[in-house]
Amino acid sequence: MVYAPKTAPDCPFQKRFPSQLIRDDVFFMSLAYNLAIDAWNANEVPVGAVIAHNNEVIGSGHNQVESINDPTAHAEMIAITQAAKAIDDWRLNEATLYVTKEPCPMCSGATIMSRIGRVVFAVPDPKMGGLGGAFNVNEYPGMNHTLAIEKGVLHDECLELIQTFFKLKR
Ligand SMILES: [Zn+2]
Repeated sequence: MVYAPKTAPDCPFQKRFPSQLIRDDVFFMSLAYNLAIDAWNANEVPVGAVIAHNNEVIGSGHNQVESINDPTAHAEMIAITQAAKAIDDWRLNEATLYVTKEPCPMCSGATIMSRIGRVVFAVPDPKMGGLGGAFNVNEYPGMNHTLAIEKGVLHDECLELIQTFFKLKR
């Protein structure tokens, strides 16, 4: 096993406290960042996701692959399931997904299948990113849904968090 230690390294980063009054991309990404810190403290790869709809959070999650031993328990998958339940509709056209790292192939597929309106991610992933980093499911011909994609919101903070986690795990 490559990734086994039972306890998380101490997290040197503080949670963010954005103003509740300005609900912009930085606000919602800050909430995703805070969830990534929760993931860190649970000894999970620190990725967090939030889904906003009419300026309210309708779904959120962080990576839980190790703790529930489920390879599909990525932050985005958990947030999407919650969001669909919250609005009682699996079509999330009016919603925006905020995630601290570019979605993997599975989660990129889930954003298409849930017809989510917009995806905002902080850190591109040139190895596994499915929304332009390594490849782009959004540009696959014949897809019945196209996402609006924005990248780079809180990029430096989210990158430092994930890079430091892996440095300390070694
Ligand atoms: Zn994923």
